[in-house]
Amino acid sequence: MNAKEQPLIYLDNNATTQVDPAVFEAMVPWLRDEYGNPSSVYSLGKRAAEALEVARGQVSSLIGSTPGEIIFTSCGSESINSAVLSAAAIDPDKTHIITTAVEHSATIKLCEHLARRGYEITWLPVDSKGHLDLEKLAKAIRPDTALVSLLWANNETGVLFPIEEISKLTASKKVPLHVDAVQGVGKIPLNVSELDIQFLSLSGHKLHCPKGVGALYVNRRMRFTPWIRGSQENGRRAGTQNVASIVGLGKAAEAAAAHISEEDTLVRPLRDRFEGAMLELVPGTEINGDRVNRLPNTSSIAFEGIESEGALMLLDERGICCSAGSACTSGSVHPSHVLKAMGFSNDRARSSLRFSFGRFNTAEQIDSAIQIVPEVVAKLRKLSPSGPVAMAV
Ligand code: PLP
Repeated sequence: MNAKEQPLIYLDNNATTQVDPAVFEAMVPWLRDEYGNPSSVYSLGKRAAEALEVARGQVSSLIGSTPGEIIFTSCGSESINSAVLSAAAIDPDKTHIITTAVEHSATIKLCEHLARRGYEITWLPVDSKGHLDLEKLAKAIRPDTALVSLLWANNETGVLFPIEEISKLTASKKVPLHVDAVQGVGKIPLNVSELDIQFLSLSGHKLHCPKGVGALYVNRRMRFTPWIRGSQENGRRAGTQNVASIVGLGKAAEAAAAHISEEDTLVRPLRDRFEGAMLELVPGTEINGDRVNRLPNTSSIAFEGIESEGALMLLDERGICCSAGSACTSGSVHPSHVLKAMGFSNDRARSSLRFSFGRFNTAEQIDSAIQIVPEVVAKLRKLSPSGPVAMAV
């Protein structure tokens, strides 16, 4: 329930997720009685060290790596920073990085920072469906390219980049590949042992685990230069490990593997029913991005003639949580860089809302959302001084 005693309808699972009760339960002993430092030699510490290895096994099983290829971090952003900075540090003559115009801010801000430090960044464009042109990627790769870093699934539209084809291309050119899989892991199957990927980032709080824990996969054949130096994680990421959260991440990874088929059988039908209803009930509505090649849980919808900031407030009053663009940029009035990169106008970007569904959503919640969202859109359109405006693409 929210402040006004409305039942909460949480449709913002790409921003963060509800903690799975099983994950919470698994964490509790490690917050209360089992407080040992995993580097200590006595039993209390050894038990914590063993718990870390169980979690490492669970995370590695989810993505098909070996346990030794998993480094625990504090979040997806740290994993991304660690991968990109490691690749950039390996050869001082390789000062070119390729990424895309639709990345998460962690990658964008880091690449902008590296550009100020003398690196050359190629920002690959996307088309109106959110897809990359792989020929452009092939042409962008140079002898001094240190890394290709890109998303697997876009956090705003859910559009998927073809990681298998991309990894074949980067492998053929002998350039390391970092995949920001923060949104994809646990929603669609992935097996890094079948792909030529050197780094992969993931984050606990997108997987029904609490915030503050993530992991970085580093292919065992890839050299790695730590960002945070010290002894833990085999010298690859210093800092006494956050044992309880890592245990939670392990449990969340295990649960994600167990529930992954529900993303198709449960979450996708909820998303599709909601999206279909919006298109049918609300005139002037369009879906942003490729409707086929995308995550099963994400729907980015443009509602002609509304301002997403106002919509978020009215929806909140009715108990619905969703996003305007990504959570990291909402609160600012800038239109989403992802929708802009897809060629949409400021008006269309500002009139877009992202709904992202998860396995804790129910059919009843979707029924309520199907009733509430059109009412909110109609109210906003009535309030708009010029009435519904034509939406340029
Ligand atoms: N990459 C993507 C695609 C994301 O959606 C996010 C979070 O929204 C991140 C990276 C950053 O993850 P974290 O919040 O764990 O730092």
